Amino acid sequence: AESELIRAQRFESLAMLAGGLSHDLRNLLQPLLLAGDSLQDYQHDPRLARLGKLVRDCGKRGLDMVHSMLSFARGARRAEQVKLGALLSAFDLLMQGSVPRTVSMELVIDDPELSFEGNHTELQQCLLNLCLNAIQAMPDGGNLRIETAQKELAEDFFLPEEPSRSCRYLQISVIDDGPGMDQKVLDHLFEPFFTTKETGTGLGLVSCQRIVGSHGGVMRVDSEPGRGTRFDLYIPLEETVADSDQKDDQDGLEGAA
Ligand code: ADP
Repeated sequence: AESELIRAQRFESLAMLAGGLSHDLRNLLQPLLLAGDSLQDYQHDPRLARLGKLVRDCGKRGLDMVHSMLSFARGARRAEQVKLGALLSAFDLLMQGSVPRTVSMELVIDDPELSFEGNHTELQQCLLNLCLNAIQAMPDGGNLRIETAQKELAEDFFLPEEPSRSCRYLQISVIDDGPGMDQKVLDHLFEPFFTTKETGTGLGLVSCQRIVGSHGGVMRVDSEPGRGTRFDLYIPLEETVADSDQKDDQDGLEGAA
């Protein structure tokens, strides 16, 4: 399981690099293509028109490469049925070697039988990043707790501008009672390469966010200096009641009364 995870971690860095690069390259290539396009139609100077065509053709080839790089970054994710109990017990096993004796790790699973669509390896990767961060934040030891819950949340909990439909979410929380973070750190937390560690990469949380995002979910952080840190992952399980319909009905009734 560990070698699979290391492979996944390598792939994750590569995918992130490819994703970031292709995004930036695309923004560079698009104006180049446009410029080539208009030069190509320049009739007063055939030499310029030929150069225009060259610029355009190369730009087009570059853009095609960028698109295949983007689909590599996105498409390699395999969706499967993830079983919560299996995910967390495999994770528990994986962590055994990495938890120092001074840290006590506790795992509380609300419903081990819960099954949802996602990617087992990616989610393990994400939990691993969060737990290693917590452990590194507590060099003198402390408590690390991972717990799960299921919540019915209105979508506007995350997206205030969307009409409020409610959705069932799996909430996975990683909680430590380490030193916590101050506002200055929190402000930059999800920026690539932001790190406060001597040998940190600043990519752990970016990667977590990418993984949770590709599951259609969101990640929240709650941290205060001296009070520890809590990361909550919300993974959508399935859509249920449309709250907005109910609200409309209520409005209708009130209007009638
Ligand atoms: P890295 O671990 O390489 O620094 P991350 O993106 O995983 O990169 O984390 C960025 C920064 O966020 C860390 O350097 C650390 O300052 C802070 N951080 C993350 N998790 C915690 C935590 N549980 N407690 C305190 N600080 C944290």
